[in-house]
Amino acid sequence: MTGSPDRGVWTLAEIRNGRVHEISGELLAWGRSLADSLGAPLVSVVPESVPDGDLDGLVAWGADVVIVLDSQEGTLPEDLLCPLLARLVRRHKPEIFIASATTTGRTAFSMLYAELETGLTADCTGLRVDEKTGMLLQTRPAIGGNVMATIKTPLHRPQMCTVRPRSMKPLVMDPSRRGRIVRETVEERSFVSRLEVLDSIRDVGRGTPISEADILVVGGRGMGHGGNFRLLEQLADLLGGQVGATRQAVDMGWAPYSSQIGLSGKTVSPRLYISFGVSGAIQHIAGMSTAEKIIAVNRDSDAPIFDVADLGIVGDVGEVLPALIRDMERRSGPCQ
Ligand SMILES: Cc1cc2nc3c(=O)[nH]c(=O)nc-3n(C[C@H](O)[C@H](O)[C@H](O)COP(=O)(O)OP(=O)(O)OC[C@H]3O[C@@H](n4cnc5c(N)ncnc54)[C@H](O)[C@@H]3O)c2cc1C
Repeated sequence: MTGSPDRGVWTLAEIRNGRVHEISGELLAWGRSLADSLGAPLVSVVPESVPDGDLDGLVAWGADVVIVLDSQEGTLPEDLLCPLLARLVRRHKPEIFIASATTTGRTAFSMLYAELETGLTADCTGLRVDEKTGMLLQTRPAIGGNVMATIKTPLHRPQMCTVRPRSMKPLVMDPSRRGRIVRETVEERSFVSRLEVLDSIRDVGRGTPISEADILVVGGRGMGHGGNFRLLEQLADLLGGQVGATRQAVDMGWAPYSSQIGLSGKTVSPRLYISFGVSGAIQHIAGMSTAEKIIAVNRDSDAPIFDVADLGIVGDVGEVLPALIRDMERRSGPCQ
């Protein structure tokens, strides 16, 4: 490895409150497999100054080169970040550039791909390299989630895409890995951002966001009515988890949009996912299939959710859920 970022597989690190977020490790896990297939360097681009230890962390997660945009300005708005990224891309000509499908990734990449006059595949759930052509195969749900489309960018470079958070787990950090840190000094702003943040409103859920929860208790239309979601909250509290919902449940106003799991909601990857009255539509499964253990309760033994469940309980939620709560209360204390 030469330590050069040229013609590599690049990922855009995700920064929250001045620190590297775990999503950056997910991107590097995708990037590592692509870079290994191509025999190319894996590069993490860090869009603002972060502590040195965080840069070493990116190397430990698999980056060969880390390029930091060092600036005194803190987080740059995406319209100022875009020309800086474009300059780097023109200089080093990466083959592939990946960001997370978060607000930052989506905003920055939709500006960057237009600036670079290449393509952009948004919201991918799978990425691999075509063995014959070396092209990036970008897979994402399409036509209302009813098909999985695989998209190529044959004529333009870099091949750019955003990938859904939680669609891959970060690799285990290897502190013995060695990489090169390249610092790019960002000059004082020569122009003013056209973006103005008027306000930011905290999403007041019940604590940990569902995308970060280890245990999820999920309700669907089979819960019958919104009041029954209180029972889900009770079980989630007993298990030390959070409550998620299907789009049907959200559309009926039983749960907030921030708890929606699936194609048009969040992708989750908890250790344990327990659903009540969820049919298992493909658009829902698209957001939870990487859960480690799946338990489903549904009164219809043919419900598709049982096809992905490790443990299926055919029964009425009105009986199974209160019985589970009673049992957990007897055992008391959060699940270990
Ligand atoms: C473009 C697009 C995007 C979408 N995005 C999403 C998304 O992000 N997330 C999502 O979830 N959906 C999404 N959907 C909707 C999806 O297709 C399904 O309609 C939805 O997931 C179904 O939700 P549900 O399982 O709660 O309801 P239903 O499909 O109506 O299932 C209810 C289930 O509850 C069971 N049941 C009923 N009563 C009881 C009882 N008393 N005890 C036990 N079981 C009972 C039934 O047997 C049934 O299986 C999307 C659809 C489209 C077209």
